[in-house]
Amino acid sequence: MSPITLKLTTTDPALITLYSDYWRIDKYGKFAVSAEILADRKNLNYWELAHLVARSCIVTDDTRQCSQCQAPYVYASRNDYKENHNKTYPWFCPKCTTQTNNTAKKSPRRAGKETIPSPPPAQCRPHTCH
Ligand SMILES: [Zn+2]
Repeated sequence: MSPITLKLTTTDPALITLYSDYWRIDKYGKFAVSAEILADRKNLNYWELAHLVARSCIVTDDTRQCSQCQAPYVYASRNDYKENHNKTYPWFCPKCTTQTNNTAKKSPRRAGKETIPSPPPAQCRPHTCH
């Protein structure tokens, strides 16, 4: 059974068929229909097809979740799936990655340096804050 879930933001039956075929995975874990065939069917090149799929089809993987908020992994493309679906290292969703980066910037990263509490921002003075 495929671990990925399609969330479609279109009601066009032709596109729904296209997306289902694009993300169909066979019993060997490979994509069942080649992108070339699907692109041909729509008279598109590969990149136009990928763009079309990305535009109104959100593909999530319930077996890979954000290590912090358990949001499912979202695949941007087939290549993304191929590269990442069987990875086991911790993954953080874009939201949590942004938060982590912001936190990391605030704290000193160099080992050997003592952690000194930051003074309040220079521009924040009692008479301007309230
Ligand atoms: Zn998260």
